[in-house]
Amino acid sequence: MRVAVVGAGISGLSCARLLLHAGHDVTVVSGDPLHRTTSYLAAAVWFPTAAGPAEAVARWGATTYDWLAEEAQARVPGVVMRESLVLYRDAPDPLLPLPSWAAAVGDVRAADPGELPPGYAGGLRFAVPLVEMPEYLPHLNGQVQAAGATQVVRHVTRLDDVLDLCPDVIVNAAGMGAGALVSDDTVYPVRGQIVRVTNPGLTLSVRDEHHHGGRAYVHPRSTDCILGGTLEEGSWSTEPDPAETAAILERCTDIAPGLADAEIIESVAGLRPGRPKVRVELDEDLMPVPVVHNYGHGGSGITIGWGCATDVAALVAEVGRR
Ligand SMILES: Cc1cc2nc3c(=O)[nH]c(=O)nc-3n(C[C@H](O)[C@H](O)[C@H](O)COP(=O)(O)OP(=O)(O)OC[C@H]3O[C@@H](n4cnc5c(N)ncnc54)[C@H](O)[C@@H]3O)c2cc1C
Repeated sequence: MRVAVVGAGISGLSCARLLLHAGHDVTVVSGDPLHRTTSYLAAAVWFPTAAGPAEAVARWGATTYDWLAEEAQARVPGVVMRESLVLYRDAPDPLLPLPSWAAAVGDVRAADPGELPPGYAGGLRFAVPLVEMPEYLPHLNGQVQAAGATQVVRHVTRLDDVLDLCPDVIVNAAGMGAGALVSDDTVYPVRGQIVRVTNPGLTLSVRDEHHHGGRAYVHPRSTDCILGGTLEEGSWSTEPDPAETAAILERCTDIAPGLADAEIIESVAGLRPGRPKVRVELDEDLMPVPVVHNYGHGGSGITIGWGCATDVAALVAEVGRR
């Protein structure tokens, strides 16, 4: 079938890759260059955040964890397995079940007291995929092009604007833009500000989801560290706020004291595509051709992207069988 995929972030490109693999003729339509997508600036660590429903996110997350872990093993550019530590001010009750994300990760253990920074009584240790998107997204785009996709640079205002490509199916994977294309007003921005600093030699990802100053996470990459962050529902600003930059630095230094010598490279802010529920769905009433939606991934697009794309490919195959 001819499939028009609208969007060239992680959601669109992962779908394009699987659809090409299944033998479809794919055109990727995107209004922005790769480096202007939300996917490109993401901290891009596997960790379910601000996305639902829980059961589907767990399933998509498990598929994506395995996919990225294999890519890390195969040394795909930008993908590594990163040792990680989640911190708790109070030691977690050993009788309570592990957090829901732990099932996909598998090997999760209590942190030793010597692994905790001052002020923390407990933590969990595990390894998750970390994806350096400035390397990975162009690599994925290259794979999609090499597999024969047609690329169209075009800003569309309605999905009807791609009907001239004569698609048999349209995949709506336009991130923050996806809602407006189909009059879905449940899509909302979840602003995130992060700070990129030099890496003073850190190798451990550390996070405190309940830091008194706000969310705190430190993700070391090959040549820098991503420090975060904020999660601001309803804010459309992509301008970094200098006061927030200082606050992020302060709380990240609390959880990773080794950052004291780090130097700021830049602060950036992006809009996570929020929605009460991630929408992965076949819609046959909207357009003259079937539409498969894949949007609303919130703070989890990299965490669940390959799982969602697997479902999208199955829905496109379902259309083809009719
Ligand atoms: C600061 C920050 C940190 C994050 N950290 C993580 C993390 O650690 N882990 C994680 O899993 N997730 C993280 N996220 C969330 C993640 O970045 C998103 O969930 C994900 O990038 C969404 O991908 P997408 O492909 O759906 O959208 P995008 O990457 O935004 O791509 C949308 C695509 O659609 C195209 N498009 C949109 N509208 C139109 C239109 N009208 N016409 C034509 N083309 C259009 C765009 O050009 C683009 O190609 C983070 C986000 C932010 C902001």
